[in-house]
Amino acid sequence: AIDFKWIRENKEAVAANIKNRNSTANLDLVLELYDKFLNVQKEVERLRAERNVVANKMKGKLEPSERQKLIEEGKNLKDGLVTLEEDLVKLTDELQLEAQSVPNITHPDVPIGGEDCSTVRKMVGKPREFSFSIKDHVQLGKDLELFDFDAASEVSGSKFYYLKNEAVLLEMGLVNWAVSEVMKRGFTPLTTPEIVRSSVVEKCGFQPRGTNTQVYSIEGSDQCLIGTAEIPVGGIHMDSILAESSLPLKYVASSHCFRTEAGAAGTATRGLYRVHQFSKVEMFILCRPEESNSFHEELIKIEEDLFSSLGLHFKTLDMATQDLGAPAYRKFDIEAWMPGLGRYGEISSASNCTDYQSRRLGIRFRPELSMTPKKGKGSSPPTQFVHTLNATACAVPRMIVCLLENFQQEDGSVVVPEPLRPFMGGLDIISYK
Ligand code: AMP
Repeated sequence: AIDFKWIRENKEAVAANIKNRNSTANLDLVLELYDKFLNVQKEVERLRAERNVVANKMKGKLEPSERQKLIEEGKNLKDGLVTLEEDLVKLTDELQLEAQSVPNITHPDVPIGGEDCSTVRKMVGKPREFSFSIKDHVQLGKDLELFDFDAASEVSGSKFYYLKNEAVLLEMGLVNWAVSEVMKRGFTPLTTPEIVRSSVVEKCGFQPRGTNTQVYSIEGSDQCLIGTAEIPVGGIHMDSILAESSLPLKYVASSHCFRTEAGAAGTATRGLYRVHQFSKVEMFILCRPEESNSFHEELIKIEEDLFSSLGLHFKTLDMATQDLGAPAYRKFDIEAWMPGLGRYGEISSASNCTDYQSRRLGIRFRPELSMTPKKGKGSSPPTQFVHTLNATACAVPRMIVCLLENFQQEDGSVVVPEPLRPFMGGLDIISYK
């Protein structure tokens, strides 16, 4: 239920937003397809009505010649309808595909521009000073026998990895720790399907079709591998009307994520930083529209608390328009200091998608009748779309990069942050074998 009428009525604002976001959306084409769609829809309705008139006439007493005439008329109408209905299906598909790239509207405080325009909301901690020469996570992993990139490259291809020894405990410990911490804050834990229908991926605002897609599609099927748990979690309530009293719904989902990383050539790709498959714990909220800005603040606060408790140094950014992607109304990223890489790297992202996903997924709620006098018995207020938000609680490989590089010691061992130890069988240090 994309609101094309609204898009048409606010054409100038939508066009300015597309420009600010440096989006490839073709607004003129979307509106042209929408007009065509409306015309064909009107024609289909007209022919259906005419067919009904003919069908009703046939019920009466008729001369054989009149009956014959009506039969022919009915047949012609039916043939015309079949063709038009086919056109309508095609047009609907074209319109939806084209409309996918039209971005969400943007929060008025979001800085306009490219990555460099993103503003720092918060800075936590300071870069650790080392009194010895440090290693990056690739070297640390090699020396401590934590990864095998070579075998993974033979078995799967580049940007895959085996984790070994304590790195396995670290991955499982991080997932368990993040899920437990977020559950404590009232979120319902989930594990999700990791293969989903392409249509659900599209409704969440991702683009599985096209040559430069981030999404792995399964050949010969209409299914894809998920790039994030946001997709199956968003899908749980699709095509439903929720009770207002059930909101907010808060989930914390653990899944693997699969990404083609098309177009990522030239960006940081060393070691675990950018890989095709990784584990991630993701938070997801469905709420009433007026609450989404405050839940966005709640999500970024949870992320900041989690990363501070591990002792990381990081900054929180209000991402500029060109870095929002299509579904987000506003996005806060966290970039942590990675001393081995010698720079900050993104470890999490929290987005308020307002009604962008819920319109496409068909997730509504029915506002409860207020206590004020009612207009009439049984009159219930119209349904509204919920707002959806998503945020990373823990993206495992980037977290491993951070932990190894920040907590390495002069003798080459790595200290495990205290909050993780109970989730790793009490392990406090990763040492040479
Ligand atoms: P996103 O869903 O794109 O906002 O990503 C969420 C988080 O997952 C990012 O903040 C990164 O920490 C992590 N991440 C994204 N892509 C990759 C990748 N290809 N390899 C490893 N981690 C990733």
